[in-house]
Amino acid sequence: ANSNVQAPIEDESIQQKLMNSINKENIQTHLKFLTKKPHIAGRSNDEVELVTYIENEWKANGLDNVVSYPYNVLLSYPKQGDSNYVAIVAADGTESDISQRKELVIDPEQNDPDVVDPFNAYSAAGEPEGDIVYVNYGTIDDFIYLNRTMLIDFHNKICIARYGSIFRGDKAKHAEQYGCAGLILYSDPANYCVPGEGVYPDSWYLPPTGVQRGNLKLARGDPRTIDYPSIPTAWFKNVSETSLPKIPVTPIGYIDAVKYLSKMGGPAVPAGWSGGLNITYRIGPGFSGTYASSKMKMSVKTENEEKEIKNVMGFIRGSVEPDRYVLFGNHRDAWVFGATDPSSGTAVLMEMVRSYSVMLKQGWRPRRTLVFCSWGAEEYGLIGSTEWVEEFQKQLLFRAVAYINVDVSVKSSYVFSCRGVYSLSNLMFDVAKSVPNPDTAEVSKGRTTVYDTWLLRSPFNSSDPSSLPFFGTLGSGSDYTMFLQSVGVPAIDMTYDYDRGLGISSYPLYHSVYETFDMVTTYVDPEFTYHLAMARIWAEAGRRLSDSVILPIDCRLYGVYLDRSYDSLMTIYGKSMRGNGIDTDKLKEVIDLFAVAANEIHDKENTLDLSNDFLVRGYNDQLMQLERAFLDQNPLPGRPVYRHYITAPSQHNNYGNSGFPGLVDSMFDIDADPDQVGRWEEVKRQYSILIFHILSAASTLRTPV
Ligand code: GLU
Ligand code: ZN
Ligand code: ZN
Repeated sequence: ANSNVQAPIEDESIQQKLMNSINKENIQTHLKFLTKKPHIAGRSNDEVELVTYIENEWKANGLDNVVSYPYNVLLSYPKQGDSNYVAIVAADGTESDISQRKELVIDPEQNDPDVVDPFNAYSAAGEPEGDIVYVNYGTIDDFIYLNRTMLIDFHNKICIARYGSIFRGDKAKHAEQYGCAGLILYSDPANYCVPGEGVYPDSWYLPPTGVQRGNLKLARGDPRTIDYPSIPTAWFKNVSETSLPKIPVTPIGYIDAVKYLSKMGGPAVPAGWSGGLNITYRIGPGFSGTYASSKMKMSVKTENEEKEIKNVMGFIRGSVEPDRYVLFGNHRDAWVFGATDPSSGTAVLMEMVRSYSVMLKQGWRPRRTLVFCSWGAEEYGLIGSTEWVEEFQKQLLFRAVAYINVDVSVKSSYVFSCRGVYSLSNLMFDVAKSVPNPDTAEVSKGRTTVYDTWLLRSPFNSSDPSSLPFFGTLGSGSDYTMFLQSVGVPAIDMTYDYDRGLGISSYPLYHSVYETFDMVTTYVDPEFTYHLAMARIWAEAGRRLSDSVILPIDCRLYGVYLDRSYDSLMTIYGKSMRGNGIDTDKLKEVIDLFAVAANEIHDKENTLDLSNDFLVRGYNDQLMQLERAFLDQNPLPGRPVYRHYITAPSQHNNYGNSGFPGLVDSMFDIDADPDQVGRWEEVKRQYSILIFHILSAASTLRTPV
């Protein structure tokens, strides 16, 4: 690249000043304050106090504007005084083996009246009784196996699924599709513990009494106002007409799950389905032995409630291009104390904003506008960010450069982890190279930057000596979703991660009452050095996006994503596509055309006249708008709010990513469909739409004359 172009971002003094003004003690102080009380969305005064706290801090920092955006939205809570439980019910109606309605208090600080009892938000209420069936993770493949191979009829059954592998809302959707009467979710020690490592409070692994809360909603935002903001003038759909779950779902810990699983009858589970409890895992249906005539019962009283939630936004006006926005976002609401999820991110956000304000006071101002977002009600299915993106969609479509999300900032101290659109991956590699490594043992081995350990511990391809670090792709699951899916804003999400080699499904105390400040200082980041590194990475990524004359968006890397998606499409479906008369080379051809256009525009950077503001702006707009070119006016079939035809959350796992989602979804389980002709026509339609979008995107990179 032209060195003039890069000069401003390589301004060492600004980079160093910004990074050095970030203070880890301040992050710790913020985290302590943010996690004093539970701060669940909508119902807690403390959540409302955090809004004021953030507004006041940002105003005191001297931001150019601080605004909060309220929305009245549909939330969900367990019934006060009658929280959910499950039990075994005998033929005469007596209940036994009743599950704990609350998590056991291990540290007196957890004994707070505002702690919400374990529940799954947006569950239907109900008290079903039926034979129990173990469905492993409750993935679509698990259900297909049970239904087609094991011939299980799910009607009137109560399924029990272990947490992990996919988003819990998809487990609920599958259970409902197959006709189950209810679904129990539980945390298996195989997924949240490591044998011999102990459990909280002796380590950070999940104790038997810990329970994972979490929402089940697949619609994004307020389910009553799909596509539109829940502002006072909104028209609200009746709750009964929304796509919320229709069966009761509730979570339990393994202290309870073992009681039910150990009494089950039926065949033993297939290989890979057993968890870590010291029992024989069985499929059911129903209990055996003395319990053979007993049923599983659920008592779920969860109810929906309309509540006000708020986003807090802080702005620093850009000096040259005030109408171009670089956004930083983190959610504020937590299921309980939220010391990791999300307050580790909120504490980092607060300190990063202060460091930017220090720069402002020294006379610096970014070229483009910075927007800091503290979202409400993310835990309820990205409500705050979705409503805001819907409200300001036209501004964002034309003005937003990029969105950088940090939900949990530090899950653990093993390795930096980042995912997003590939056109931002080079930016993140460069940023990671500029941030000192918080891992002192690694530094003493000569790996002095975040990048060095990222490459060592998480290479994209460990058998390739020239591999880059692993850079993942986005599904849904946090607030970047609607920026990418609804308005085509290039997005990234990042965290300091645990070692994936541990084989656990998330950091173990996720969404439990044990996610406290003390747990963080004892087991996660006692010195706050990893939090500090995250603040530096976030600040520096934002600075480069806002200050570089030429945007650090590399379209050529989108070509890499297209190639990878093509290869995996061919591996899974290539043969059957060709067998059904689809010329799969055509797609490869247009991907290659895209690559040519991307290379051409990239090379133009070298000859661009940087003194011509119109040309610079025009060039940047092409880079910024590439992402918009992949959006379709029609959402993906069956996915009301996802419009990105190149990358989207997976159809059967909201957390997962799917490349070429319209086409790939159209072929799911196609062999089992009696309507072969109709289905393949739809595949052909999706194939043509995909090709159109790639051609269309390539055309935006070219200039007609
Ligand atoms: N991050 C939250 C969770 O994983 C919400 C995700 C979502 O609804 O997409 O539970
Ligand atoms: Zn979160
Ligand atoms: Zn969460």
